[in-house]
Amino acid sequence: MRYSRRMERVKPSAIRSVQKKIVQKQGVISFAAGLPDPDYFPLADLKTATMEMMEESGRSALQYGMTKGYAPLLDLLVERMRAKEGIDAKPENILMTTGSQQGLSMCAMLFLDEGDVVVAENPSYLGGINACRPYGCGFIGVDTDEEGMVIADLDNVLSENPKVKLLYVIPNFQNPTGKAWSLERRKQFMEVINQYDVVVIEDNPYGEIRFRGEAVPSLKSMDTQGKVVYLGSCSKILCPGLRVAWICADESVTTQFEQIKEGLDLQCNQFAQMQVASYIQKFDLDAHVETIKAAYKKRCDLMLSLMQEHFPSSVTYTKPEGGMFIWVELPTSLSADEILDDAIESGVAYVPGEYFYANEGAKNTIRLNFTTVSEEQIQKGVLLLANVLKKYI
Ligand code: PMP
Repeated sequence: MRYSRRMERVKPSAIRSVQKKIVQKQGVISFAAGLPDPDYFPLADLKTATMEMMEESGRSALQYGMTKGYAPLLDLLVERMRAKEGIDAKPENILMTTGSQQGLSMCAMLFLDEGDVVVAENPSYLGGINACRPYGCGFIGVDTDEEGMVIADLDNVLSENPKVKLLYVIPNFQNPTGKAWSLERRKQFMEVINQYDVVVIEDNPYGEIRFRGEAVPSLKSMDTQGKVVYLGSCSKILCPGLRVAWICADESVTTQFEQIKEGLDLQCNQFAQMQVASYIQKFDLDAHVETIKAAYKKRCDLMLSLMQEHFPSSVTYTKPEGGMFIWVELPTSLSADEILDDAIESGVAYVPGEYFYANEGAKNTIRLNFTTVSEEQIQKGVLLLANVLKKYI
């Protein structure tokens, strides 16, 4: 086949191949997943919302709809973004996407030319990085500390690299580190980027899953120059299978996205959008999110306390205030990838952190997920992992 040259840059996800390896080995306790807990999908309420929606307006749920999205859902999302993220948006600013993964892909298509440079947190979400790769861009990773992206490093990168066009950031409970940016750091970030001709993608699928500390306003809410493209998603607060997500941007930018969307798939799934709208109108999404947060907090706290008790003291890790992941750093001489087979053999699995970097990754890092494992599995799994680590340290 005469595939496009673009396809030479598309690589299979290393993370998926690790996950495949784990699935093949029965009985392994896996901290390698990146999924929300299906036990917390509001099955009965979604079923009721769907049945009622079908009875009330089934024909329009099965018909084509607007490219921008289902109007009542756009209104509900405007309201939610104002309440949760301090974003002052109108329906004109929003375009529904098939998961925020499609939003990422559309950002890459809209903004990137060959030779442009994308700046991302170091490490970052591989799906975001891979969405950009086909367009032949370069990547520069900027490190983060406990407060967020290191501003002096960011300023240096932007002043030395005029080809930087896009910044891709996940300021809330990042995948893979679980880190969240402080308010002060967000303000500093906006001050710096406002001096450059760049676009910021603020990817926020985990923002509402804050189970500790105070909510911090989004970058979009501080955006006075229309430079931030905000990506929201129902995947972690409701369920990912419906693929209901959205872009919020300056109206002129949203119009461009709309043209891209027409060419991709005309519109998002009308049925799924109407299911979500019906669920939000008839049930209490906030109460549902509180339930998820309580469950995830319990698992995260248990995992952290067991790690504190059993991990060698030279191993450090983040203490997330929300989201789904903990990021572990081993002594620099160790490779988490080389230890993985031994860990799987012992009955526990994780994703080596090196896969989450756009360029060369730190080999001594691990991503641990705490949302798809029971408390019992966490109890056993952390002990197994601690024993494996002790063999090497
Ligand atoms: N961004 C980040 C940071 C993610 O972790 C994920 C999924 N794990 C996505 C985007 C994609 O989410 P979705 O397409 O389900 O909205």
